[in-house]
Amino acid sequence: MGLIVQKFGGTSVGDAEKIHRAARRAVQACDEGNQVVVVVSAMGHTTDHLIELADQVCQHGGKPYTPPKREMDQLLVTGEQVTIALMAMAISAQGHEAISFTGGQIGLITDQSFSKARIQSIDKQRIFKQLEQGKIVIVAGFQGITPEGEYTTLGRGGSNATLVALGAVLKADVCENYTDVDGIYTADPRIVKNARKIDQITYDEMMELSGLGASVLQTRAVEFAKKYNVPIHVRNSQNDHEGTWIVAETRKMEDIVVSGAALKKDLIRVTIKDVPDRPGIAATIFGKIAAAKVVVDDIIQNVMMDKTATISFTVERGDLADIRASVDQLTSELGAHASFQADLAKVSIVGIGMRTHTGVAERMFQALADAKINIQNITTSEIKISCIIDKGQADTALQVVHDAFKLDKAR
Ligand code: ASP
Ligand code: MG
Repeated sequence: MGLIVQKFGGTSVGDAEKIHRAARRAVQACDEGNQVVVVVSAMGHTTDHLIELADQVCQHGGKPYTPPKREMDQLLVTGEQVTIALMAMAISAQGHEAISFTGGQIGLITDQSFSKARIQSIDKQRIFKQLEQGKIVIVAGFQGITPEGEYTTLGRGGSNATLVALGAVLKADVCENYTDVDGIYTADPRIVKNARKIDQITYDEMMELSGLGASVLQTRAVEFAKKYNVPIHVRNSQNDHEGTWIVAETRKMEDIVVSGAALKKDLIRVTIKDVPDRPGIAATIFGKIAAAKVVVDDIIQNVMMDKTATISFTVERGDLADIRASVDQLTSELGAHASFQADLAKVSIVGIGMRTHTGVAERMFQALADAKINIQNITTSEIKISCIIDKGQADTALQVVHDAFKLDKAR
């Protein structure tokens, strides 16, 4: 007998039939002797539709208006609230006791950052009390409440954060993440046809992969799972196949040099020229960017003969609007000049075996060279190598790198 937290993403609860199918899994896990908590996302593309609706309303006199973040969260939390009630009904209809809770009702307290709030605590007593009475507990994903009683959301895909946080505080034996794919792949199977489902991957590798473009799980959720050592099992809600286990590192896993490859498209390089070369400048620049809560990558600084510096970095295209004002302000303050280069992509490989194996970078660069793909910049960490390339060559790059490390073959 164990405690299982199951999470069903939007596509796994898209209609009444799918809700019943998900309900059946929860009931089955319960019948097998487990205590079961179920986290649900909003049905199908509900969250996207709510955002579109807000966009439509936020037009005034022909001018777009940015909705207040508080009201946006107020709107978005409604999606998950529909699913929890329906899921509780489906489970009851199948003859098992169930009770649903919003984030606020289980005291899922977050900070005040609307649209990307961080979880601070959860009142597990309320959940345990229901579990002890034999009920299946259903919790709305993606949402929380501030100590002042304001509704918050945890960022897109945030039901995973709810799943893992519950897994951690309830000390669950496993967090099952049900989605519409069979697990985590060695590369995006929509691009790389011979991509293979990975059986087991470490938290660290998964964090790198999600940060580099693999969209199945948010980096933050995996980070949390690692901290509390909760295994995550990513699996398909439409079948009973074993999915991918995300777990702590074991000795054996070190033999796999590269576990997966990832691709990020739509990057923009920001170049700031004629920056005075003196201490504190980089801190000023990146302090401003960080204040806009934008993640920058691939920072390069060159010092010119005339003692000015050129600093460049990449950001995701969607983030450009958030930093534009800071960049403009910086350039005018520093007497510097900014330019922007769009249509860049980043191809990366990830594997904990890189720590102990040599020649990995060379193999990646050679594969790109053979495909006549120019590498514009390289960044590395202990367990990843990333290359910035032209967006037009992105899909090919992913394929050739995948081939170079024979990722289609299980080790
Ligand atoms: N419904 C939210 C979203 O679509 C949260 C989630 O699905 O995890 O982003
Ligand atoms: Mg969703």
